[in-house]
Amino acid sequence: MKGLLFLVLVWLVTACSSVPPETTPTIVANEPAKPTVLISTAENADAYAPLRYEMVEQGVIGWGITDEAVIEAMGTVPRHEFVPAHFVDQAYDNHPLPIGYGQTISQPYIVALMTQSAEVGAEDKVLEVGTGSGYQAAVLAELVGQVYSVEIISALVEQSQTDLAQLGYDNVTVRHADGYFGWSEQAPFDAIVVTAAPDHVPQPLVQQLKIGGHMIIPVGPVGGFQTLWRVTRVSEEEVQTENLGSVSFVPLTREER
Ligand code: SAH
Repeated sequence: MKGLLFLVLVWLVTACSSVPPETTPTIVANEPAKPTVLISTAENADAYAPLRYEMVEQGVIGWGITDEAVIEAMGTVPRHEFVPAHFVDQAYDNHPLPIGYGQTISQPYIVALMTQSAEVGAEDKVLEVGTGSGYQAAVLAELVGQVYSVEIISALVEQSQTDLAQLGYDNVTVRHADGYFGWSEQAPFDAIVVTAAPDHVPQPLVQQLKIGGHMIIPVGPVGGFQTLWRVTRVSEEEVQTENLGSVSFVPLTREER
């Protein structure tokens, strides 16, 4: 019901924009927001709901994300709860933000793209490598049964555990470890989402992916750009790869701290 309501509201806001955002973004950006209806009717309303809906309308739907469940999840998860206090006013801008320790929370569009590309289902068990703020884990948690997330920086493990618990995401388990090795005790996974970039696809992760499952992973050199791949395990021995485009992620490091 909540989902249907949200989609109708997104449709309403979209339908009310006289000009498609991709042709004249400035005009649309300058239009007054139409948040009052959204605030008073949505169950997940908070002070940031208008900004969140604008982010979904422009940076998620407007950039080509079509999966309705993913769109709903992006409209539900309070991104402002996952960014440092001094960046809260930018929480719904469509760009990455620093979260301390030299790490970043990904751009909302990239989170939506990775989530959509993973093609997850309601009963799925998903592994995330690189918990960071916990935001991507929360988006996944809206869509699947269980999320297991591995983070190499202990301070981020603690922070994300606190934030996820406070928001009621009790289907996310975060652990402090080198995610290169996945989480063998919980394997196999229906999908794996890697949010830090290695220079090759870690074999332990392929081994922990169910046959038919997708792994979404940026691969490439440190700094600059990497390629975002969808790696599908088609059999015990074989994978298929699809190039999802050029991205810029922090590196997958190998030293726990
Ligand atoms: N998914 C995060 C994005 C975090 S940025 C979010 O939604 O906020 C990538 C994260 O990967 C960083 O927190 C970084 O510390 C972590 N990371 C880097 N190398 C890692 C490794 N080998 N194992 C687990 N986490 C790693």
